[in-house]
Amino acid sequence: MRVVVSGAAGFIGSHLTEALLARGDEVVGLDNLLTGRMKNLESFGDSSGLTMLTHDVIHPIQIEGAVDAVLHFASPASPPDYYAHPVATLDVGTAGTRTMLELAADKQARFMVASTSEVYGDPLEHPQTEAYWGNVNPVGPRSVYDEAKRCAEAYTMAYHRAGLDTRIVRIFNTYGERMRPNDGRAIPNFMSQALDGGEVTVYGAGSQTRSLCYVSDLIRGILLLLASDEHLPVNLGAQNEITMLQLAETIVGLVGGDARIGYRELPVDDPKQRLPDTTRARTILGWTAEVTLADGLLRTLDWFRSEVNAEGQGR
Ligand code: UDP
Repeated sequence: MRVVVSGAAGFIGSHLTEALLARGDEVVGLDNLLTGRMKNLESFGDSSGLTMLTHDVIHPIQIEGAVDAVLHFASPASPPDYYAHPVATLDVGTAGTRTMLELAADKQARFMVASTSEVYGDPLEHPQTEAYWGNVNPVGPRSVYDEAKRCAEAYTMAYHRAGLDTRIVRIFNTYGERMRPNDGRAIPNFMSQALDGGEVTVYGAGSQTRSLCYVSDLIRGILLLLASDEHLPVNLGAQNEITMLQLAETIVGLVGGDARIGYRELPVDDPKQRLPDTTRARTILGWTAEVTLADGLLRTLDWFRSEVNAEGQGR
């Protein structure tokens, strides 16, 4: 297949690109490098079948030649990133989705959008099924991400109803290699803070929960969904619900050393609990997350150690 991936230099986008290249696909990657990093793609080599274009997908783009699939994975995804870039976050979820849908329509290609568990907001239903419409504050600081992604889903369904072949994946918290150590999310923060031996910052009392999916599991699910004929949203995420205090303690324990837990104010509208109901992924795709939290955290920690060392040596 020849596949266009927006956000190809990002955390999930680069893993997705790597998996597509590994199965022999050709990839045209797009990224405006707002939060993505070209170094995420460095290890793939020049003859990998990847062409990268620095382009902001809020602007139309023409790609020469046939395209089989268009995968829209461009967006800031960490709360501090979307607080820092609120309009860009809105734009890439709305105008950016439209650009990518138009490209797919023009090429008669299959389209997939990366949606998110944030469409459920601070959920009043637990666990969250795809049938739940969510509890989103439309004017709070998180709304730039949540509402943009809800709009992206609405755009996708509008094009679907007009005949486009579309997929919507709702991605729950995912972690692994290539997250920026300073991206502000829980696992990168806890790992870099623990490696520094300073304070590991738990927001609020740390009683809020997340379930944490290792990136290789997520990518396997995305490829299965792409190959399926399911156009309605599908949740992909792990079942290992854990409080943020437990997560911080686990990471401090894995790292060892002198780090201790310090408490900070809870961000506005921070979801109190999050756990995907993955019945649809299981029945439609035969997918469940398989990597245990212990294994995934160890692999991720190895990578963070080498990143922190490389930074320390000015690389
Ligand atoms: N969090 C925390 N300390 C940090 C970063 C995050 O306690 O240094 C909490 C945050 O308040 C949230 C959870 O960890 O409840 C997950 O945050 P993250 O930014 O990873 O993703 P979210 O699920 O909020 O998008």
